[in-house]
Amino acid sequence: MSNSKLICYTRLSPNCNKPRSHKIDTITIHHMAGNLTVEQCGEVFAPVSRQASSNYGIGSDGRIALYVDEANRSWCSSNAENDHRAVTIEVANDGGEPDWHVSDKALAALIELCADICKRNNIARLNFTGDTSGNLTMHKWFAATGCPGPYLGGKFPYIAAEVNKRLSAATSTPSKYMTYNEFEKKYLGKAVDFDGVAGVQCVDLFDQYLKDCFGITGVWCNGAKDLYNKFESYPALVKAFDRIPNTRELVVKKGDVVIWGGGSWGHVGIGNGEGDEDRFVTLEENTLGRHEPTQLVKHYFNGSGGNDGCSPVLGVLRPKSAAEPALKPLDTAIWYKRGDKDKAGEHSIFAIKQRMKALGYKLDDTGGFGGGTEAAVKDLQRKMGYKQTGVIGENFVRLVMR
Ligand SMILES: [Zn+2]
Repeated sequence: MSNSKLICYTRLSPNCNKPRSHKIDTITIHHMAGNLTVEQCGEVFAPVSRQASSNYGIGSDGRIALYVDEANRSWCSSNAENDHRAVTIEVANDGGEPDWHVSDKALAALIELCADICKRNNIARLNFTGDTSGNLTMHKWFAATGCPGPYLGGKFPYIAAEVNKRLSAATSTPSKYMTYNEFEKKYLGKAVDFDGVAGVQCVDLFDQYLKDCFGITGVWCNGAKDLYNKFESYPALVKAFDRIPNTRELVVKKGDVVIWGGGSWGHVGIGNGEGDEDRFVTLEENTLGRHEPTQLVKHYFNGSGGNDGCSPVLGVLRPKSAAEPALKPLDTAIWYKRGDKDKAGEHSIFAIKQRMKALGYKLDDTGGFGGGTEAAVKDLQRKMGYKQTGVIGENFVRLVMR
């Protein structure tokens, strides 16, 4: 946990609980009911007898001070539950009753401070709902007080909107995150224990990759293979990645997350861009299950030469930002299209559907070719760079039957 770099003055108050008991997911904005400088406000919170504090204070001149580390719970909102999860901010008033006006400089500083708090604590959005169900809260919802006053209270929807603009601008700026090359350079040869649990695991490096290269945290899995098999249960992953099954035409691209399904937990690594339809190289940890640090390891799709004991490869999670693949040739000979009846043999609709089920598509156990099958065929064609015809032909069968 960190404090804001926007502060220009620090006077730590003894009036707090160390550490807070809840992760930060809320911001509570207060007014001082007076025009105190940040130094004067720090003076107010300094004596133990005062029994009050806030994490930050903002003066009418727009200067920001720290009184209680974010790691600790301030005594600010008359509500322990709120203050254990909230960063609290006291803002000076440059006007008195009844409006309790706040200066434009203080308001501008407040918006920047809130955006900074959200970014560092992975709060995706400030959600002002007008009650305690949101994560931007008011003192007066918890106690008999007018705080934060009519002027500042009326600004809450505007503050939330301005903060959210800054948060979405931050996430759409790719330079905020590392590239794969920067990530490899930083971690190659190092032991990454992201969660501090069970030593260096392959998933630790994956979690670090998500955080550093995509700004995603909080994706917990019960074994690497869940990342592929239960992909749809991770909204953050679905937003950032396409799940691409291991067909015979799969080429692992730089930055692809490769997932193996063997053993109890499977395995995960990140493609470095070398390889072809037969082999690839991943940046990975715990290759042999002995907590090996991050290294580059050569693998083969057919399992030979693989040294992790975790074959087969289930597929990859490909960053959505990766360039669209060039379209490959269409099938010249159409074998099956929607509504066709099945033919017996190795390449029956039934056999092809069984193989697609193994690749993660939800299909029934018949030889029918209906709308569901057509949609699945189109999805796979899109992911593998083919034009989406929805028909099964020679190219498609070759693709699926790895
Ligand atoms: Zn208050």
